[in-house]
Amino acid sequence: MPDIVISNFSFPTRIRFGAGALEELPQQLDALGIRRPLVVTDPGLLATGAFKALEKISGKKWAVFSGVHPNPTIEDVDAAAAAGREAQCDAVIAFGGGSALDVGKVIRLCLKRPDKPLIPFEFEADWSGLAPCVAIPTTAGTGSEVGRSSVIDPELTRGLPPKLTAATGADALIHCLESFTSPVFHPLCDGIALEGIHLIGEALPRAVRNGNDLDARGRMQVAAAMGAVAFQKDLGAIHSLAHPLSTFCGLHHGTANALCAPFVMEFNAARKPGTYQRVGIAFGLNDPDDAATIKHVSGLLREIGLAPGLRAYGVKESLLDPMADQAFADSCHQTNPVPVVRDDLRHLYQLAM
Ligand SMILES: [Zn+2]
Repeated sequence: MPDIVISNFSFPTRIRFGAGALEELPQQLDALGIRRPLVVTDPGLLATGAFKALEKISGKKWAVFSGVHPNPTIEDVDAAAAAGREAQCDAVIAFGGGSALDVGKVIRLCLKRPDKPLIPFEFEADWSGLAPCVAIPTTAGTGSEVGRSSVIDPELTRGLPPKLTAATGADALIHCLESFTSPVFHPLCDGIALEGIHLIGEALPRAVRNGNDLDARGRMQVAAAMGAVAFQKDLGAIHSLAHPLSTFCGLHHGTANALCAPFVMEFNAARKPGTYQRVGIAFGLNDPDDAATIKHVSGLLREIGLAPGLRAYGVKESLLDPMADQAFADSCHQTNPVPVVRDDLRHLYQLAM
């Protein structure tokens, strides 16, 4: 039994899940007392069937801010908040992938305190009494929708291309995998992470193969939300390696995770045998050891088109040192199953090349 510290366990989100859930949105807004929502999204979504479905439901009456960048900036937040004030909005509908959802959630702080900069803020005082936010994910990966109120409708991910389905789905898998194996005491998250792994192992290859498989799409959306709930327990070295790959080389966050995952798993299993045994069981393997589980994860990532090899994604040898510095400065690896030093991260990048 680990030392039990006094911990907070909170699972506060209400989720409406199912194909067609989007059509209930007007009633949901009424129930929350929302009159003038601001839709926050990114420019790429405007042309999608998912956005057209939202427009149809809104009768095009809602204000829209569509200037969110991938890996959004503080300027995106300021501009979205300005659009919200201009249209006197009383709520936010965050619509899209993780970037749009994150911006949508955070601008409520700007709307509450228009005369103050976003940072610094006081968590207790400033994050209460915010305008409601309905988060509607159109990907199945980051799980950013697990905020205050969410609508999850697998119909909206139907049009997501296989590459993005694979990358976002791999991110969800690695959220479950890293949170489950991190040494923090949080059995609630552990249970959710294992079921997330089970769902993803079964549904992700299907969702990549056939985007119209609504059952697989639905399972992936729930699993993505479960991954995000699970990682309030924290992540590990895979995410520390992935973050610089996005900032230095522009890799998609999920792709970056997938390309590093098998090497970090080998590293961890060599130093702490048995780390991945229960992960293997969650995948449905019979009496798995670490090696069998790692082989299974590698095979799954290959199957969805994410075979290792950073070089193929344009990562240059000369970047490995600065990326290793940044990866070591990243806090995720502090909850890796085993401790890592800067040179371990450098070595893992080299292996992943
Ligand atoms: Zn992630």
